Amino acid sequence: AVEAIGVHKAFGHLHVLKGIDITVMPGTVTVILGPSGSGKSTFLRLINQLETLTGGEIRVDGEMIGFKKVEHKGQEVLQTLNDKEIAAQRSKLGMVFQRFNLFPHMTALENVMEAPVHVKHMGKSEARELAVAELQRVGLGQRLDYYPSQLSGGQQQRVAIARALAMKPEIMLFDEPTSALDPELVGEVLSVMRQLADEGMTMIVVTHEIGFAREVADQVVFMDGGVVVEHGGPEIIDHPSEPRFKDFLQHVL
Ligand code: ATP
Ligand code: MG
Repeated sequence: AVEAIGVHKAFGHLHVLKGIDITVMPGTVTVILGPSGSGKSTFLRLINQLETLTGGEIRVDGEMIGFKKVEHKGQEVLQTLNDKEIAAQRSKLGMVFQRFNLFPHMTALENVMEAPVHVKHMGKSEARELAVAELQRVGLGQRLDYYPSQLSGGQQQRVAIARALAMKPEIMLFDEPTSALDPELVGEVLSVMRQLADEGMTMIVVTHEIGFAREVADQVVFMDGGVVVEHGGPEIIDHPSEPRFKDFLQHVL
């Protein structure tokens, strides 16, 4: 599970997250909705330790991320984890961004093999087998030797998903994975995500795709101004109770 407990994040004087409480149970999909600047990306980046929180805590599988409790002069204090400990925690998470961030000089296969070989020190032939399997999983078994420039945006994003999956994460974080795509390419990426959800992957998805949220989410969270304004099952999309959420839905639908 991922548990955010009273999470705060400030960038200098800018208080971006003001006490976020969200629990994501294993094997479930949480969709986060909210207007631009509400802190959605910041929240995902905190879970993945690309940013450090300034208050509260986040637990993954019950373990606090970024810090550990140690005894100091008879008192419990929080100590920052070292790089190796942080890397171990981050290895449980896969992240997919709006921009695909593929290595342009590497083929689809090489992009997916990169982290298993260089981060996990997996042998080349084993990594190749794994990469082929992950690319097949996202429907790109016929595009192994294509370079990113030879792939559509939707195909590139599916390579990015395969690349994250090759690290065998327990939890996948998606930050607006379809918002940089031409409309006709959105469906193929959403259908790969839906397939992952059906396979039982734990997912946190920031998206404006309301249809995806309605059909795939177990939990919908609406954030605005750095707080969770409303959360519940997918039915809240059709029956919002908070005026700010109603207003937001009227603008995106
Ligand atoms: P969008 O829908 O546009 O992606 P968002 O909900 O993802 O928005 P965030 O990217 O989390 O919003 O940003 C929330 C606020 O934090 C914004 O005001 C942004 O300018 C600010 N912010 C984000 N990252 C930083 C940073 N590294 N330094 C300073 N301010 C930042
Ligand atoms: Mg964002």
